[in-house]
Amino acid sequence: MNQRVLLVNPWIYDFSAYDFWLKPIGLLFLANSLRKQGFEVRFLDLVDNSSLPLEIKAHLKKRADGRGKFYAEEVSKPAPLKSIPRRFKRYGVPPKIAEQIIQQIPSPSAIFLGTTMTYWCYGYRETIRFLREKFPKIPIIAGGLYVTICAEHSRNNLGADFYCAGDYEQNLKPILKELFGFEAELLSPEALKLPLELYSKLEYGIVLTGRGCPYHCKYCLSSKLHPKLKRKPVEMVIDEIIWQGKELGLQNIAFYDDALLLEPEKHILKILEGVVKEKVKLKFHTPNGLHLKPMSQELANLMKRAGFETIRFGLETQDPIRQKELGEKAQLEDLERALGYLKNAGYEPSQIGVYLLAGLPGQTAVEVERDIRAVKKLGARPYLSEYSPIPGTELWEKSLKTARYPIEEPLFQNCSLLPCAHPSLTPQKLTELKALCRD
Ligand code: SF4
Repeated sequence: MNQRVLLVNPWIYDFSAYDFWLKPIGLLFLANSLRKQGFEVRFLDLVDNSSLPLEIKAHLKKRADGRGKFYAEEVSKPAPLKSIPRRFKRYGVPPKIAEQIIQQIPSPSAIFLGTTMTYWCYGYRETIRFLREKFPKIPIIAGGLYVTICAEHSRNNLGADFYCAGDYEQNLKPILKELFGFEAELLSPEALKLPLELYSKLEYGIVLTGRGCPYHCKYCLSSKLHPKLKRKPVEMVIDEIIWQGKELGLQNIAFYDDALLLEPEKHILKILEGVVKEKVKLKFHTPNGLHLKPMSQELANLMKRAGFETIRFGLETQDPIRQKELGEKAQLEDLERALGYLKNAGYEPSQIGVYLLAGLPGQTAVEVERDIRAVKKLGARPYLSEYSPIPGTELWEKSLKTARYPIEEPLFQNCSLLPCAHPSLTPQKLTELKALCRD
């Protein structure tokens, strides 16, 4: 069996987007899983800068740690967003260049499109429209988070031929059977390496050591999608990190886990010991926010020795009542304790980032300011994450009641619109609060 398939990471259409170590991790795992079943896999990442002409790339600022700007072009807004007085853009490779790339790709037997944020749904649709023009007779299968969370909307909006909600390792099998006539054995991400070699050039590596989270924060879907932690064997994680460092020559690696530090003795401590032993010079980044409670002096020391550079914790709020309401994942004392360990390990508290939520239903600007000041008082650097309402979370019903926009439409679930914010948290106020974080 040698069927050729094309996996596509779609364009992003949004008011703003930034490459914060952003790679289509689910689609990459699927690529490897399909390869192991004998499929010939072609991969097209429409937001990857490496296929841009040099004269465009030269203007896109990249940081030494791999983060940077996507190429963007202004486009007209979809009808529901017409009244929003902001510029709307398509992030990624311009269609003309995408066309040239596609001309080099032999016609596949099927196309798989990965989705993530619900409010990027317009970009998914535009990408499918583009692919249809190029490959009119080829079946398109859409999967990923948006297809899982917004089942009805995605089916009405995208124009794909098949929809795979939930985990591909279970739910893609019947679709593959229908298309290719055989029972595929799709390995899960916990049994696979990320096939980063599918990229011709990379600025950074990424690693996912496990999925799921046992906490139940009311604004988050992680525990609903994967209530139990599923993890890759420690040895596999170490090998993958070393492979990215030594074979792919990458110096910066971002962890994608939701619960990297939980049960540290079984997992992260062993991983970091293994990495330190290999003596590969790497810098690690944790854009997803780490749990505070598992921090210990031993863990902080190992993080320093292994090369953790961007450390971000998820506190979300220091207000004890709101913390309790949201799921009690951490308190301010946990942050204070963690900062103490990290300071002993050699970090300056100002190197440690702390995520705080802004724009929760009923959360005033004054409350957000109190959160910022409390984190700053401990010496850490607060970062505001604007709240994005997600269907299926426990906070969804409350979000519907307080929303400024009709958030049943995924385009309005965009966190940058502050869709559920208290009237006191205006865009202007948010800008001031972000400045306060930086001061
Ligand atoms: S701890 Fe983090 S990943 Fe887990 S449920 Fe809460 S927000 Fe989600």
